[in-house]
Amino acid sequence: MNFFLDKTARPDYMGCMAINGGIRRNTMAALRLDRFSASTKLYNLSRRYLAGGVSSGMRSACKPLPLFFEHAAGSHLRDVDGNEYIDYTLAWGPMILGHSHPGIIAAVEQQLAKFQLIGAQHELEAYVAEKIGAMVPSVELVAFNSSGSEAVQVALRLARAFTGRQKIIRFEGHYHGWLDNVLIGYRGYANGDGPRLSEGISERASDEVYVAPWNDVEQIESILKKHSHQVAAIIMEPIVCNNSCLMPRSGYLEAVRDLATRHDVTLIFDEVITGFRVARGGAQSLLGVTPDLTILGKAVAGGFPLAVVAGKRKVMELIEQRRVLHAGTFNGHPISLAAAKATLDALDENDGRLLEQIRTRGERLMNGIASLAGQASIPILINGVGAAFHVSFTTRKEMHNFRDTLDNDTDARDRFLEAMLENGVYLLPDGRWYVGAAHTEADLAATLQAVGKAFKAESSLHRFAEAE
Ligand code: PMP
Repeated sequence: MNFFLDKTARPDYMGCMAINGGIRRNTMAALRLDRFSASTKLYNLSRRYLAGGVSSGMRSACKPLPLFFEHAAGSHLRDVDGNEYIDYTLAWGPMILGHSHPGIIAAVEQQLAKFQLIGAQHELEAYVAEKIGAMVPSVELVAFNSSGSEAVQVALRLARAFTGRQKIIRFEGHYHGWLDNVLIGYRGYANGDGPRLSEGISERASDEVYVAPWNDVEQIESILKKHSHQVAAIIMEPIVCNNSCLMPRSGYLEAVRDLATRHDVTLIFDEVITGFRVARGGAQSLLGVTPDLTILGKAVAGGFPLAVVAGKRKVMELIEQRRVLHAGTFNGHPISLAAAKATLDALDENDGRLLEQIRTRGERLMNGIASLAGQASIPILINGVGAAFHVSFTTRKEMHNFRDTLDNDTDARDRFLEAMLENGVYLLPDGRWYVGAAHTEADLAATLQAVGKAFKAESSLHRFAEAE
């Protein structure tokens, strides 16, 4: 199903089909729904009072239904039916050190015993701010928020105040939170050319943005040539984890950096996923391009709510000068900052040994999956890096932007995801994998065994269809 082209389709937020009535029943014969009877019962109960039965719209894309969990430790999850899984969702990214990490639990318990929330300053704020500055190359000052969506809005406000301009350039397929002005264009062009992901978005939201295809320097050049006096910021995911983990073409980030500098536009890297995951200094240190502002979230506090807007002093100091208001009751939450200190200390230790281990284990998974697909003659394409990668079911050899990523057999992907679930591996509904420090060699071996089985089932399905 091509949601970009089919405007009547009703996509969910992951570009997967919305699940009618909440539970999809008949696409995967192999998956026995009685394995999930306790989850099904709780889901039905939940939906009586909880809108949609999930607490974030993204989670409704999980098939065959959004599962309920009762235990998580290291890389493993157990659902309420007692099914065990190796977890590559890592709570959609944050659990970089694994579930129930002893260092994080101890830090949080210690902080809980001292105080929980005062609405005033405490020492952990200074420690974590300095630590982020030391780890991320472009960061001179930071400000804390609770969610990535909020921190994105702070960055946009800073850029507007700094440049005295209003408009934002954003890219198709890049996700920057659920608020109106950045949801436009996430799954296609604004101005009615693509599906809107929500009703109720302000009519004026489209006026705030230019939506461009990514990885195409000429498109940015042409927008800036005509409108640079209006453009406050260019915002992007430097590795597009929310869209098939697309990588930038060689020289692309450098060219955008150069254009932003020449036109006095603020370059914002949204590293909510890539930060403290793909390298100690995020994608900007991995790829060697420095933005003016960076947004961090997810992994920064190892599973507790914390987001950060950070960057060059000349922009960030507008907050200190009180030219830009940055506020929030829960900002700098002591519990989250205790978790952040424990997480960042662990990730920074021994020259970033843990992130190196994540990278190499992730790359082994990528190579293993590719080789098993080859053996089963299943055409796939893997994009991304060891710590965050994505498997598309496609004959394409390359993908560079959102429209390329639509060339993905989502039925085959869903069969794969369900076979993996059946074989004890829990993945995100769009086919993305997050590798963390808790994934062991034994996990990798068991995972690749499950992948082999899933591909074998898929290839016999094809043989069967051909025979018919
Ligand atoms: N930016 C990116 C790149 C993200 O992946 C997300 C969340 N998936 C956000 C921003 C929004 O963060 P949050 O869900 O914490 O509001």
